[in-house]
Amino acid sequence: MAEKDTTAAGLALAKDPERGRLAVGSSRYLLIRPETLVPLAGSGDLGVQALLEEGGFRGGRLAGRAGLAQGLKDRAAVERVLAFGALIGWGRFRVEWDGPAVVLEHSPFAEACAPSERPVCHLVRGVLRGIWSEVMGSNVPWEEPACAACGAPACRFVPAKRTGGGGGSLQ
Ligand SMILES: [Zn+2]
Repeated sequence: MAEKDTTAAGLALAKDPERGRLAVGSSRYLLIRPETLVPLAGSGDLGVQALLEEGGFRGGRLAGRAGLAQGLKDRAAVERVLAFGALIGWGRFRVEWDGPAVVLEHSPFAEACAPSERPVCHLVRGVLRGIWSEVMGSNVPWEEPACAACGAPACRFVPAKRTGGGGGSLQ
């Protein structure tokens, strides 16, 4: 029998220990320790990083659709989805819409991988691409020019520049 826990505002987490399932609404979720992902997120292998980004992209698209399904659009849908991210432990997101850029404080991936010589939040890059793809109609890769795992005060994400002009806004 599923058991609902709505103590975290807005998060209806259904536990079903008999079947070994957790769900938010009709979507299955999985709780894992961030350390589980350190060998992947901390890898310097570009192929591994790309696979993490692709996984994040899939989840981000689903999250974006869930935001749209709540009757929200555009920036409101993005803000709702990112606020949900805080409820499920991905850290606190803040969008700077004039960039756009996304700042993430307390990334679980950065905290688990620190210290690192390179950014580690590849899943988040993919999630942002997925959300923007689904909600804002903009399917471009995101870069992480600053990561808390490398000593930055917070992780920062920007859409990749397609041509010319170099990469994102390095700090
Ligand atoms: Zn990071």
